[in-house]
Amino acid sequence: MPSIVQELSGQRDLGGLRMVMECPAEATVLREGPAQDSGVGAAWLAYLCPAHAVGLDGWPGAADHLDPGTMSCGTVLDYRSAEQQLQSHADLWLTSLTGVDPAAHDGWADVLDQADRVLLARVDEAAVAGEDSPLQNMLAFMDVAQRAAARGDLRVAATSLAYCETFAQGL
Ligand SMILES: [Zn+2]
Repeated sequence: MPSIVQELSGQRDLGGLRMVMECPAEATVLREGPAQDSGVGAAWLAYLCPAHAVGLDGWPGAADHLDPGTMSCGTVLDYRSAEQQLQSHADLWLTSLTGVDPAAHDGWADVLDQADRVLLARVDEAAVAGEDSPLQNMLAFMDVAQRAAARGDLRVAATSLAYCETFAQGL
């Protein structure tokens, strides 16, 4: 018998594992995202505690299912294409953090290159002021994301942005 995750995802391969918020609670709800643009299965599955199941922006679901509480709140299984995951990162945190809007750029290599430059400049500014920037933790992963996108590997770029997303919650 397939698990509920296999069933809801249409048994697709997992595209990315994300932690979209810092919450110590165990999830009690498995939120089923909207259907994929093509084919079967949900675009994503999010594990949420009761508080976040009510008040979470950016993750509008198609349905909520009971979860036995085995995963941390904020865990998201993302089954979308790499490009769609990159867009989701932009919508949820990358554009507000860096000011770089994908709509104003020509492709993800360019977007991530610009975002990388913005972060680097901020870390440098902090260093000049004698401070350690919390953005520093993100730089190595943003650099990997940028170089992966430049060689056309959007899957690795999306995975690297998922690490950045986790750091972004601590800011
Ligand atoms: Zn929570």
